[in-house]
Amino acid sequence: MEPKSIPVRVRFAPSPTGDLHIGGLRTTLFNWLFAKHNNGLFLLRIEDTDRERSMQKYTDSIMASLAWVGLTPDEPVVVQSTRIDEHLRLANELVVRGSAYRCTCSQEEALDRYAQRGGHAEQVHYDGMCRDKNISADVGKPYVIRFKIPDATDAIVFEDMIRGTVTIPRDQLDDFIIVRSDGAPVYNFVVVADDAFMRITHIIRGEEHIINTPKQIMLYTALGYAIPIFAHIPLVLGPSGQKLSKREAATAVIEYKKAGFLPEALINYLARLGWAHGDQERFTKQELVSYFDLTRVSTSGAIFDSEKLLWLNSVYMREKTDDELYALITLEYGAYEQSKEMVLALIALYKERARTLKELYDAVLNALQGPAEYHDIDLQPLRTQEIAARLERLADRLEHLSSWDNDAVTAVLKTYAKEIGVKFADVVHPLRIALIGTSSGPGACALAVLLGKEESLRRLVRLYDTIRRMHDAGL
Ligand code: GLU
Repeated sequence: MEPKSIPVRVRFAPSPTGDLHIGGLRTTLFNWLFAKHNNGLFLLRIEDTDRERSMQKYTDSIMASLAWVGLTPDEPVVVQSTRIDEHLRLANELVVRGSAYRCTCSQEEALDRYAQRGGHAEQVHYDGMCRDKNISADVGKPYVIRFKIPDATDAIVFEDMIRGTVTIPRDQLDDFIIVRSDGAPVYNFVVVADDAFMRITHIIRGEEHIINTPKQIMLYTALGYAIPIFAHIPLVLGPSGQKLSKREAATAVIEYKKAGFLPEALINYLARLGWAHGDQERFTKQELVSYFDLTRVSTSGAIFDSEKLLWLNSVYMREKTDDELYALITLEYGAYEQSKEMVLALIALYKERARTLKELYDAVLNALQGPAEYHDIDLQPLRTQEIAARLERLADRLEHLSSWDNDAVTAVLKTYAKEIGVKFADVVHPLRIALIGTSSGPGACALAVLLGKEESLRRLVRLYDTIRRMHDAGL
């Protein structure tokens, strides 16, 4: 437990340069759960200092995704760009205090000198040429502001809540830039200024930021701020073992909404990605809040398993009432032309089979509209004159039926199957293909009853006409 005197405050700090990534949502979730578990606060900061790549539409989309899953911040959102004057004030203060200095070395010069020392370009270390030059702001040339690593630094060591002790030796660090020559403060600097401003106690973020942490720790110290506790979460990996890519699965949270996932299923799934509580798979949000323990997050990357997410989604869908499912699918994909009563009856027939809201919506739409085309694999065994004749006779029997209910339709099919010496399934399957285009699906008699006599017969006629046409065309 955290000491009661310091309320936990955590944040998610996305850059609005794209839609919210599924890995970002897991980071948000772990922050949110950690905050709620400790009676703390979850905050949001939009890191929009990259003016070229940041866009309002992405801020809106990130906020919409978070609202969709119900992980909303407990205080007003902080927008990083509104604090730029404060960032620059702090950077200048560091210069005045001697913790940072102006540097006029061009990148090429620094690179040349580095190469002469035998270094590799991909890990350039600045040699401190301007460290003690006391360059003033009116030097008349472009300059950057660099942080001056304190001479006494041997290594930066910190306790990561997930990874344990992390040590970064001095020789992996150099006097890094905190304000670029165009006057823009860099990420490592503003993140510290803003986290301190927001009184963040725990920084829970993706492990790609672990290389930034030593720099940030030095800045906390130089600025006189308390150093927060860090926790770096392993990446979400695709089945290939690499960082989850668009080729392997949808990566934007918004895509999961469009694809018909329920937010509670996605949250449940992501909570289990790299964290476990025994072998429990299903969790309510309340259970997650009470059991969540950051120190039990796995240190290795978690593999995203789309099949498991689909399974979990179908479990959550089955728990919804037909009315709830109706509201969800019509909100996401639009209203149907047919009556709500008819749609509800079809939802009841299909909900056990659909794994996503989209599958449910499409299946109901397909049932309502009739098959646009038949599945080849289902049609293949029906393509004989004999079967076409058999279906025509079945249509004739059904047409003469006086009551159109499940028992009556089933009885006609059973009697007919017996009369012609085939199995009941051999009559039911073609009927289902006629009604919805495929041999698998809900009970064909129930479907026929729902669709009504006239529509069912129209679809039966269309099927045997199609079979005959194909036969005549020699297909
Ligand atoms: N803005 C950073 C990003 O989107 C996050 C910074 C952080 O969490 O420290 O990756």
